[in-house]
Amino acid sequence: MTNLPKALRSRLSEALPPALAVAHESVSEGGDTVKWLWTLADGAQVETVLMLYPDRATVCVSSQAGCAMACGFCATGQAGFERHLTTGEIVEQVVRAAQRGRALDRRVSNVVFMGMGEPLANYDRTWAAVRRLHDDLGLGARHLTVSTVGVVPGIRRMTEEGLPVNLAVSLHAANDRLRDELVPLNRRYPLGVLAAACRSYVETTGRRLSFEWALIDGVNDRSTDARELAEYARPLRAHVNLIPLNPTPGYRTRGTPPRRVQAFREQLDTLGINATVRRNRGTDIDAACGQLRAEHQVPVAITRPPGRP
Ligand code: SAH
Repeated sequence: MTNLPKALRSRLSEALPPALAVAHESVSEGGDTVKWLWTLADGAQVETVLMLYPDRATVCVSSQAGCAMACGFCATGQAGFERHLTTGEIVEQVVRAAQRGRALDRRVSNVVFMGMGEPLANYDRTWAAVRRLHDDLGLGARHLTVSTVGVVPGIRRMTEEGLPVNLAVSLHAANDRLRDELVPLNRRYPLGVLAAACRSYVETTGRRLSFEWALIDGVNDRSTDARELAEYARPLRAHVNLIPLNPTPGYRTRGTPPRRVQAFREQLDTLGINATVRRNRGTDIDAACGQLRAEHQVPVAITRPPGRP
């Protein structure tokens, strides 16, 4: 705000300090993925990832410090719940990433709530952040994506909001026995109830639904799994995003090897389901899906992959 007098500017910055202090920043090889670990005013830490693609720039934001959903394969779930983020803490992640984008001559075009935490378990603050990104930062509803493990009351509330953002559901299994194990919240909101909530979201908003499916070697990557997924996704016309499971410290099982990932995708294709294999962005800086977790306690350090200036 260079149009304001200097004295007023310094009073403003004293009265309104940033919510996020950089604790650590990592840049992937090639520079197209940037991850920040932030320290919040009370010492809690969360991460944000900026991903630069040729045609868009996406920010992946956290909605909670930690997570209470306890999915065993997810690093945030392994760490447990610390606290909800405020609306300001969520919005500021986008603002800070957008500042970096500008420095690189790029405009942030998309925001996905796929960082740490379960956004719909922190509904009011998450939704207020969605509104501010939309109303004040000018991001269109189709460029905003809320991802949930399947908090059905939250999906129902989103259905009533009148702002049709994209809905992503982290499915990972399409039978209740396996999903109960992988995603413990399934015991509370099983697949049938989840499908009904998804259906009314899609019918009301006209938005395409997507399912996230982290392929776990020998667990949910067999041909019966593909058939169950196809049966579940077909009536909802959902798009499927396949991500080979990223390694995390607390989970022994591995991701499905590339050849079987392709076979799984092809089987879905044969069954009439659109599926995309997601590129594993940021694995070299622990910024890939499910890997976000504070491991650097050192204040202000910048790492780059070995061999880079
Ligand atoms: N709690 C919300 C938002 C987090 S999104 C949700 O679950 O949707 C993070 C995404 O990464 C989810 O789809 C999650 O299931 C997935 N994920 C978690 N751990 C992972 C891992 N180790 N490898 C690949 N994907 C993972």
